[in-house]
Amino acid sequence: RFDVSAPWLNRVLERRPRQFVHAVDGVSFSIERGKTLALVGESGCGKSTVARLLVGLYGASEGQVLLEGQDCAAGWAGPQAAALRRRMQMIFQDPYASLNPRWKVLDIVGEPLREHGLVRGGAELTQRVGELLRSVGLAAADGEKYPHQFSGGQRQRISIARALATQPEFLICDEPTSALDVSVQAQVLNLMKDLQRERGLTYLFISHNLAVVRHVADQVGVMYLGRIVELADKAELFSAPRHPYTRMLLDAIPDIHMTGRARTPVQGEVPNPLNPPSGCSFHPRCPLANERCSRERPSLQAFKGIQVACHAVSEGRS
Ligand code: SF4
Ligand code: MG
Repeated sequence: RFDVSAPWLNRVLERRPRQFVHAVDGVSFSIERGKTLALVGESGCGKSTVARLLVGLYGASEGQVLLEGQDCAAGWAGPQAAALRRRMQMIFQDPYASLNPRWKVLDIVGEPLREHGLVRGGAELTQRVGELLRSVGLAAADGEKYPHQFSGGQRQRISIARALATQPEFLICDEPTSALDVSVQAQVLNLMKDLQRERGLTYLFISHNLAVVRHVADQVGVMYLGRIVELADKAELFSAPRHPYTRMLLDAIPDIHMTGRARTPVQGEVPNPLNPPSGCSFHPRCPLANERCSRERPSLQAFKGIQVACHAVSEGRS
């Protein structure tokens, strides 16, 4: 079980030129072992910040990240950092930028094995990398090639093989298919689901794309301006979205409700996080906003098995 618990993810400070922003505030969730939680939202909502926080690239000013009860912040700072790193790996959006073009695939995928002392010599390294490449649908002989010899989808398979090298339990996937063609996206997502089943992996899956999230998630957290505004099981979220922002995102996906009505593009723009709106930060874009919304920030509240932060929902007028 992976817990990111409430008041503590409070106030993650992200350094911007001459200013600090509360990039993420009051974000709280748990992921059951072997399951996928997706965080979804438009760019700038703080979902990548959450990912970087979990792997220790950022520190939180309050709050904690627990992996099976172990405090990760203490873990990253202490002698257990390497062990923690083996258990949690990250897959990034851009397989072009994240693979060193001058390295053979053998060395790219084998680097974590070497770094963590998981192989004794060159022959064992070659064998283990071959197994990893086959597990992601590539050939063992591909280890002798360089990244530029592969397509985008194949490169993301190489990234996944590298992430699996230390036999992690938990993978943080930040827009892992966003740079790929739609047909290739589905293949990579299916591979990730197969690997999850075979290895009991737990995923935090970050995406701006609800159609992708629908394909992979068990639970979905919708983020807006650094906060989770709705957190629900996937089926519930897609069949009965409560938060007006979730509805706006769903209405922008073609055919999601199978009603045949035209999709409505997402309206308005994400406000500047340096100067967020008062009250509910969604109020300038919200069709249900009233005077209270511009004054008072709604907190995330349990409501019929889901969590949602919206006055209209708690007042029964949504
Ligand atoms: Fe809209 Fe008000 Fe709900 Fe915010 S709190 S989402 S502005 S109805
Ligand atoms: Mg991002």
